[in-house]
Amino acid sequence: MTTPENRQTGRLADKHAVVTGGTRGIGEAVARMLLAHGARVTITGRNPAGPEAFAEMKQTGEIAYVQADVTDASAVKRAFEQAIARSGPISVLVNNAGQAASAPFLKTDAELWRRLMAVNLDGTFHCAQAALPGMLAAGWGRIVNIASVAGLKGYGYVTAYCASKHAVVGLTRALAMEFVCKGITVNAVCPGYTETDMVKNAISNITSKTGRSAEEAVAELTSHNPQKRLIQPAEVANAVAWLCLPGSEAITGQAIAVAGGEVM
Ligand code: NDP
Repeated sequence: MTTPENRQTGRLADKHAVVTGGTRGIGEAVARMLLAHGARVTITGRNPAGPEAFAEMKQTGEIAYVQADVTDASAVKRAFEQAIARSGPISVLVNNAGQAASAPFLKTDAELWRRLMAVNLDGTFHCAQAALPGMLAAGWGRIVNIASVAGLKGYGYVTAYCASKHAVVGLTRALAMEFVCKGITVNAVCPGYTETDMVKNAISNITSKTGRSAEEAVAELTSHNPQKRLIQPAEVANAVAWLCLPGSEAITGQAIAVAGGEVM
């Protein structure tokens, strides 16, 4: 958490970081990690009231919450303007808001396809467009897109998710090149299955569709990871923080897997 001390001496002390989908799971862990490095943090989510998890910190002003559905470009623009008015220009943007859904390809209807593209890909596009002008004006910025190992390799029954996350990796690489000489780095962090609500939903989906037990469903998911375990949100947050801290200037356009060796 931010203390008066790390707000002054933390390595991100003068930075304002926006974490989309910071209400729980990986986004919450990233927000807490950036706070611990002294950043002023704004999290976003769809709920007008914001999450319980940060209620106390919101009261003390350590963290701010703005409402925005990332699929809605004008809502994102408004929310980012509010965040800037409260906490200053955005120096760090973590595009974390995302959704997953599985279906065989021939049962993947246009609604599911469009929803995952709208949240995972268009959302990243809208937020980057809203944050980049301030980063360019400052001559400094860090964008970290939370993609997935599904952005680096194919898996069955998740074509829409896989395609959206591969596109996020492509967007990351193209943005990195476009702003390579402007003091702005753009990277993707690609987690393997990580212990959050998203994986809880995947487990109940597997148990209800296949009749397998929850233990068998977890074993199926962890079988992809050579370390045979779920990744923890804090492990993803560590990689994000490292990409934002001083010393990471030469790292741009990368897609860094946090997945126990699943891809290499
Ligand atoms: P959770 O389901 O736990 O949290 C998702 C977050 O995204 C919530 O904060 C939610 O906010 C927000 N969100 C969802 N849809 C929207 C939307 N339309 N507009 C704004 N915010 C939205 O997910 P995780 O923490 O597991 O995942 C975070 C990211 O990491 C995602 O991009 C995901 O694809 C990626 N990832 C996750 C993996 C995993 O195994 N868990 C593995 C690889 C990648 P709210 O509901 O409050 O609006």
